[in-house]
Amino acid sequence: MTNSSNFPRILFLFSDTGGGHRSAAEAIIEAIYLQYGHHFNIQMVDIFKKCAPLPLNYMPELYPKMVKVPQAWGLGYKMTNSYRRARFITASSYLYVRRSVQKMVRQNPCDVIVSVHPLAAAPILRVLGKNRPPFIVVVTDLVSTHALWYHHHTDLCLVPTEIARQRAIDFGMNAQKVRVVGLPVSDRFCSPPGDAFIIKQKLGWPGHLPVILLVGGGEGMGPLEKTATAIDAARLPAAMVIVAGRNLKLKERLQSKNWQIPTYIYGFIKKMPEFMRGADILVTKAGPGTISEALNAGLPMVIYSRLPGQEDGNVAYVVSEGAGYWAPNPAKTVEVISNWLNHPEQRKQAVQACLKLAKPQAARQIAQIIIDEYLPQALHRTDEISPHKSWGNQ
Ligand code: UDP
Repeated sequence: MTNSSNFPRILFLFSDTGGGHRSAAEAIIEAIYLQYGHHFNIQMVDIFKKCAPLPLNYMPELYPKMVKVPQAWGLGYKMTNSYRRARFITASSYLYVRRSVQKMVRQNPCDVIVSVHPLAAAPILRVLGKNRPPFIVVVTDLVSTHALWYHHHTDLCLVPTEIARQRAIDFGMNAQKVRVVGLPVSDRFCSPPGDAFIIKQKLGWPGHLPVILLVGGGEGMGPLEKTATAIDAARLPAAMVIVAGRNLKLKERLQSKNWQIPTYIYGFIKKMPEFMRGADILVTKAGPGTISEALNAGLPMVIYSRLPGQEDGNVAYVVSEGAGYWAPNPAKTVEVISNWLNHPEQRKQAVQACLKLAKPQAARQIAQIIIDEYLPQALHRTDEISPHKSWGNQ
């Protein structure tokens, strides 16, 4: 009989501040299961919910409000973005979070830690001390990565792009510890395109119309409503699918409108891979998760907003490679979509540009690194593998 308490234990640190950290962690976990089976004890811990006292434990709820003032967010990003300042922030908050971090570590003993959040490494490495499990960071920003991602004591730092690798080194990381793998997305974004007509029909959308998919990250951020209204007013020959994410008020407002073109409104959906594979054009904020998923799904995009500082590089990355356009106002969004609808060959070129930037192996590669390099005992395991050291119990 299989005793799962003997399985190697992997602790994933993330937070529901936005949707991207969770998606990345889930993509890696999916890749572990796909390649190695379910012989692991995997825990996902929201670092704000479990490692921070009041009011920081409400960060997932506060985050959408904080990014509502993008200029302030951008200023904060800029002012803190050096290794020294990043360490100052984490050092000065340490006393405040120490007890909660100690408790989380005690409750989640493990053999390897994988963090997909920039704020986890400093306090958790400090609490763990020298005798600790390996600590791997998977950076989930694409280009303009913040100094907080690059704690020098992490054992391995996996980054999505060459630019992110260079930044890691510029922030003082040992180059030997940094590897470019891509941003992990679920396998379901990466399979062959399939018949769009059938996918659309299965989702309850008109199979014969191009579908414009509008997404504002996990929290329904950016001028989603204004942009959708402009597309509708232009009466483009297409259907609109609007994903409001966790923004329930936005969803209700959108549902109460009379739309001229076929329009389908959703809250937070679990079927993003199917939605992206059924859609023809994506309108999105510059979230790294959504962008990477769209690249892998071969879905050209119009980026309608970005968080200053943090997401600036993402826009340049997409636009310079021809995978999409920057449209800072609804009129520009309508212009780009209309052009793609009138010139399908141009949209097809953008599809090819997306696929060129895609890194469909990223999640699997990260899974292989975690298991092959840090949990080799899992490769030779029988059900009687040796009991764990309890790292967190010291
Ligand atoms: N997402 C989702 N369902 C939704 C809205 C968003 O699964 O209804 C996912 C999306 O596929 C992506 C993530 O949430 O993986 C958003 O990440 P991104 O980095 O684009 O933006 P964030 O929300 O983190 O700012």
